[in-house]
Amino acid sequence: MRMHSIWALAAIAALALVSAVHAEDEHRQLGAHVHGHGTLSIAVEDKRVAMELEVPGMDLVGFEHVAETKEQKVAIENAKAKLAKPLALFKLPASAICSVSQVKVALEGGDDHDDGDEDHAEHANAKYDEDERGGHTEFHVAYTLDCAKPANLTSIAFDYFKAFSGANELTVNVVTAKAQNTYEVSRDKPALDLGGMM
Ligand SMILES: [Zn+2]
Repeated sequence: MRMHSIWALAAIAALALVSAVHAEDEHRQLGAHVHGHGTLSIAVEDKRVAMELEVPGMDLVGFEHVAETKEQKVAIENAKAKLAKPLALFKLPASAICSVSQVKVALEGGDDHDDGDEDHAEHANAKYDEDERGGHTEFHVAYTLDCAKPANLTSIAFDYFKAFSGANELTVNVVTAKAQNTYEVSRDKPALDLGGMM
């Protein structure tokens, strides 16, 4: 019994350490991103496809300070308009028959924070604090798609890189009922083969 409780304590200590490290990691990620590099996470569950895009403002509009000039405000509106059409940025096979059911676009850290998303409140505050010291902004976009034939989601063509000249790389996380995987796509290799994932 004595040994058991020692091991139990060791296990608890190890778990605590792991979660502390994880929290530290998350905290660091809030303040540090790499310009040119974004993340797209895709979860496929039956006919529902959820996508989340997180990208530095630099990649999509070419600056991260608060938009001041008319041109800068227009650049942000243009980026948001492009982001609102995910099927033009992330081209899915026509045979999957996907349609967009929901789009939420937020720019965090700039002057334009009206998404009202509670989950992002802490993140947004961190960004605001950083912005005062000349920090960063990020676009956070959430999509919900409905695909009539999800089995045909075997590839993605990233016209995203054509749409945004400052974007160079995307890390793509894909989760399906069958598997999960992480890929890197880039301006030089703007395509993803998802064969075997669906
Ligand atoms: Zn930045």
